[in-house]
Amino acid sequence: MFRVGLGFDFHPFAKGRPLVLGGVHIPHPRGLQGHSDADALLHALGDALLGAAGLNDIGSHFPDTDPEYENISSLVLLERIRQLVRGQGFEVVNVDMVVVAESPRIGPHVELIRQNLSQVLGLSRGAIGVKATTMEACGPIGKGEGIAVQAVALLQDVNEPIRPN
Ligand code: MG
Repeated sequence: MFRVGLGFDFHPFAKGRPLVLGGVHIPHPRGLQGHSDADALLHALGDALLGAAGLNDIGSHFPDTDPEYENISSLVLLERIRQLVRGQGFEVVNVDMVVVAESPRIGPHVELIRQNLSQVLGLSRGAIGVKATTMEACGPIGKGEGIAVQAVALLQDVNEPIRPN
């Protein structure tokens, strides 16, 4: 009656782009490169949700060759993913994410990100984890070349409600 899904995404930094994570515009000299708004957090989360529902990956639903998705807000994609997940008979129980970035600091933006996810997924704040870590200056992420995000999502089959006890 429960299904778990895992998501991962990485985008390199690019000049002249806004930095958007979890639907929040974060002040930073560089944004992330990508076809949509390159919101790596929402892409990782979307893949976790789709994976848990047995619905393949985000690229298969929203191909980066489709002009419809050019610079689209990934919050719109997340809303569509929630509908796809519900269409399979699942509700989201909780989600958890780790942003891996040397900069900027994510902490000051976590509450706004949780607020966005709460609205789109219909979850209480307590069911949304957003954490951040650095690579301690090691490797491509540690050298500031981009941002990676890991996400996990738990779904419940609404056709098989949990029995108390
Ligand atoms: Mg992506």
